[in-house]
Amino acid sequence: MHPRQRPRFVLAGLLCAAASIAAQTPTVPQAQTIAPHIHLVSGVFAPGRQPDGNSVLLRGSGGWIVVDTGRHAEHSAQILDFVQAQGGAVAAVVNSHWHLDHVGGNARMRAAHPDLRVYASAAIEQALGGWLANYRKQLEAMLANPDIGEQDKAGFRGDMALIDLGPGLQPDVTISSTRNWTLAGRRVRIGLETDAVTAGDVWLLDKKSGVLAAGDLVTLPVPFFDTACPARWSAALARLEELPFTKLIPGHGPVLDREQFAQYRVAFDGLLACAASDRPAAECADGWLANAGQWVPASDHQRVRGMLDYYFEQHLRAPEAQRGRFCPR
Ligand SMILES: [Zn+2]
Repeated sequence: MHPRQRPRFVLAGLLCAAASIAAQTPTVPQAQTIAPHIHLVSGVFAPGRQPDGNSVLLRGSGGWIVVDTGRHAEHSAQILDFVQAQGGAVAAVVNSHWHLDHVGGNARMRAAHPDLRVYASAAIEQALGGWLANYRKQLEAMLANPDIGEQDKAGFRGDMALIDLGPGLQPDVTISSTRNWTLAGRRVRIGLETDAVTAGDVWLLDKKSGVLAAGDLVTLPVPFFDTACPARWSAALARLEELPFTKLIPGHGPVLDREQFAQYRVAFDGLLACAASDRPAAECADGWLANAGQWVPASDHQRVRGMLDYYFEQHLRAPEAQRGRFCPR
C-alpha cells in the first residue's frame, strides 16, 4: 500500500531531540476523571523513551470501553488496575490507529479480559507487512550497535516483541465507515478518516457526555507526521470540529475544549502553511510555539524544535517524491 515508506528515521526522530538528556522511566500518573464514568490514563512521552498514547476508559452498563492500550507494560497495567479497582470487565477495545503506542497493550487486555472485542480500522494488516516489518529490521540492526545503551536496547526489544505479536494486535471487528454503535451499553459514534495520520484513523464520540477521543488526529507537543498525509490530516481536523463534542482527548497531550481545539487547528494549519513557504524552518517552529504555546512548557521548547526540524527534513520539506508518500495516489 505504501511501497515507499521509509521508517528509517522514525525512532531517531522521536529520540534525537532528547539525545543529551538521560532516558527516564517516568512516573505513571493517576487516572483522571473527565466526565461521569469517563477516565483518562495519560500517555507519557518522557525524554529518551518512546511514548505511550493516551487511553480513554468509558464505563457502560455492559462493562468498559478502552480507547487505546498504550505501548509499555506500566501503561497497560495502569488501565487494568483501574478497571479492577472500579469493578467490571473490559468489553471493548477501540484502537485509534496501529502505532505501537496505541495498540501495544491489546494482548495484555485480551489476556486479562478474554471476552473483549477489539475494534479498529483494517490498516494494521498492511502496516504489519510493511512499515512495522521495516521498523523491526531497523531495531534489530540497532541492537548490534555497541554505541547504543542498554536502556535504549531494552526499549527496542519491547517494540520487537510487540510487532511479533502480529495477529494479536489486530481487530476482531473492522471499522470501515463512520456510524453509531452501542458498546458496553454506551451509545457512541465511531468515525474513520483515511490517509490522514495513518492509512486508517478512528475516533470515538461518546453521545451522552460529548467526550471525543480523537487519537493521534490531535497530538502534542507537536503533530507526529511519521506516517501522515499532512493535507488530508488538516481536512480531517476540519471535520472533527463539526462534531458536537464538549471535550476532546488527544492521542498525546492534555484534554482540550472546543476553543482550544480551534486554536490547535490554527497552530496546525499555520505550521503546514509555513512549511509550504520559503521561510526558514526555525521561524516555522517559532510560529508553532507561539500558536501552541499554552500546551508546550518552556522546558520542552528545545525538544519540540528538534522534533519539528526532523519532520521538516523527513516529511514536510522532504524531496517532492517523498513528501506525499503517505497520501493516496
Ligand atoms: Zn501516538
